[in-house]
Amino acid sequence: MPDEYPYAEIVVDLPLARVDQVYHYRIPKHLRTELCAGARVLVPFGRRELPGYVVGFRAHAAVTPVKDIAGILDANPAFTPELYALARWMAGRYLCTTAQALQCIVAPARQSRPRFEEGVWAVPTAVSDETALTPKQRQVWLAALEHPGLSRAQLALLAGVTPGVVSRLLAKGVLTAARHTVIRDPYPQAAVGAELPRLTGEQLTALETIKRGLDSGRREIYLLHGITGSGKTEIYLRAAAEALARGREALVLVPEITLASQLVRQFKARFGSLVAVLHSGLGTGERYDEWQRIFRGEAPLVVGTRSAVFAPLRNIGLIVLDEEHDGSYKQDENPRYAAGEVARARALLSKAVVLLGSATPALRTYAGALTGEHCRLVRLTKRVDGRTLPKVKLVDLREELLAGNRHVFSRYLADKINERLGKGQQVILFLNRRGYMTVVLCRSCGRPLCCTHCAISLTRHNDGFLRCHYCGYRRPLPQRCPDCGSTELVGFGTGTQRLEEETRRLFPQARVLRLDSDTVARKRTQDRVLAAFREGDADILIGTQMIAKGLDLPGVTLVGVVDADTTLVLPDYQAAERTFQLITQVAGRAGRGPVPGEVVVQTHRPEHYSIQAAVRQDYQRFFFQEMRLRRALGYPPFSVLAQVILRGRQEERVEQAARAFRDLLVAAGDGSVQVMGPAPPPVVKIKDHFRRQLLLKSPKRKALHTLLQVVRDRFDTDYRGRVTVSVDINP
Ligand code: ADP
Ligand code: ZN
Ligand code: ZN
Repeated sequence: MPDEYPYAEIVVDLPLARVDQVYHYRIPKHLRTELCAGARVLVPFGRRELPGYVVGFRAHAAVTPVKDIAGILDANPAFTPELYALARWMAGRYLCTTAQALQCIVAPARQSRPRFEEGVWAVPTAVSDETALTPKQRQVWLAALEHPGLSRAQLALLAGVTPGVVSRLLAKGVLTAARHTVIRDPYPQAAVGAELPRLTGEQLTALETIKRGLDSGRREIYLLHGITGSGKTEIYLRAAAEALARGREALVLVPEITLASQLVRQFKARFGSLVAVLHSGLGTGERYDEWQRIFRGEAPLVVGTRSAVFAPLRNIGLIVLDEEHDGSYKQDENPRYAAGEVARARALLSKAVVLLGSATPALRTYAGALTGEHCRLVRLTKRVDGRTLPKVKLVDLREELLAGNRHVFSRYLADKINERLGKGQQVILFLNRRGYMTVVLCRSCGRPLCCTHCAISLTRHNDGFLRCHYCGYRRPLPQRCPDCGSTELVGFGTGTQRLEEETRRLFPQARVLRLDSDTVARKRTQDRVLAAFREGDADILIGTQMIAKGLDLPGVTLVGVVDADTTLVLPDYQAAERTFQLITQVAGRAGRGPVPGEVVVQTHRPEHYSIQAAVRQDYQRFFFQEMRLRRALGYPPFSVLAQVILRGRQEERVEQAARAFRDLLVAAGDGSVQVMGPAPPPVVKIKDHFRRQLLLKSPKRKALHTLLQVVRDRFDTDYRGRVTVSVDINP
């Protein structure tokens, strides 16, 4: 920094801060050349030294005397000026501090290892006798010929073998080891090439519209409402190419890591090393490398999950939000940001196009598109290649029970599975509950076995342990009921583990794979499982919502929704919407190849309108029915809701605090905001913290927001440190 700006503006990383302020510090002479905006520094604060970020420079300090910056923690910028502007916006929108918003944004920390990794990299040698190699070894050797200089693990991944096979080839001397420095690339295997498909008429029209948006020099928001299999991904790829052609960058967001992997492959196949990836499944080293590559401008295309919305691009022209309705775009801890909202804010800063894609758009989005107020509607109404939407058959589980069938499989679904297996086709079974049995009850006192830290029943897993799906608490199955001592403990409910067991028992000839968060604990297991399934290494894939969304698996001709009611019974005004979305999405996984697909949906409530509409894949029908209900009840999108959660270790104090908070809201409100509660939320205790909730409802977002801001600042400091308050707008 030039000498006329000897002071720095610093956002100090204060724990539990409620004041959002930028502080001024003097830059000691010896640090002046090194310090840039975005650098991480250490500053004296009170009697401590705290980390903070440089966000600007000044000629004069606002207050004197002014303290000196104590030292530099990292001179490399942790964010761009645009991202700092975004953090300020987030602080206002999500009622958090700028420092808290920056926590989501800043570069992944540099680890002790160097950025460039030294390792053993396999290089193929000429082979005198190819036939001396086993088929697997040959695969590795051929892969190494095409991609020399991969690490042992990368090469094994590419060739689809275990690293041991590569080691044996190294030992044989068929591969030689060289020491290289190479950037860690999370997806080395994607091959560039393949001809582009010819766009359908609908796709062409959609792309033309988006191109006009890119040329408009303004932020434009489009809702790409396309049925499942209508070729939305192809639009993302072409739109990204158009952005690149205009010298801009593109950011593509998806809700799940599995989808990110699928999409990365498609993007890399077209754009090669211009693509960077950001998601939580990457190792810390990989994430660091990818972030730096984007920051240096080497990767103008970024694919990733929620937090990738903060990718350090500088000239974004396009932000795609695939499956825009998806709940995973919302962060469930403070700051509770919604990636879609952040994307819109970023697009406004950089005059970019926002492309929201979905077969089942969120009610709010679609309503906004119909009025043309919030975005423009672009439609894809047909599947590509004249493929048909799958036929959906409803099975009434009440009738099954009457007929004496207590199994997870209805007779109809079992028959259909047999039929498809007989033809050598693939099946997906969807169940949105992991574990073995979902609840263990005591026959004597009727109480379920609960987590000692959370007010929630424990799930039995097939390793014999009981697990809490909220906090991870684990215990062996007890001999006796902890409440009454009875030995009559019985499990109920079916999770994916039990479904897998039943499937193997009923269809012993089938090869079965399972994908849920219990099986993907290890890095990239899900990629491997999906790749194996896609290659036809298995007949049946069982999974939770991880497999519901967006996956393109052309071999699948039958999808079974084992229990459609799991989301319908949730105590949430969006239960019907979630159910409709989930069933439509899962159903959309069938018949994406040349063979038409079929879907079987098992439910206890076949007459429910969300299930009826999903069966017909009729978005409009669902939309208008649900909107009528929401309007009648005053729920979003006809109002804005906010949920205030207070939590602490002492239940009484939390209750007191909640009442005090309510009183403040009522006193400060002008009547336009309705306040409900305090009431115990569906789960009253999580991780030993008791919870109370207040629900706020208002037709006007602004009124609600201002009220919350005022009350939060006035809220009694007596509770500080004992009761924490978090605010979630449109929970
Ligand atoms: P969606 O995301 O809308 O569910 P996808 O983008 O996954 O659908 O497309 C479904 C399938 O159709 C994919 O296998 C894709 O490669 C293929 N596809 C997309 N557009 C075309 C096209 N214009 N011509 C031929 N195939 C296409
Ligand atoms: Zn008991
Ligand atoms: Zn728990």
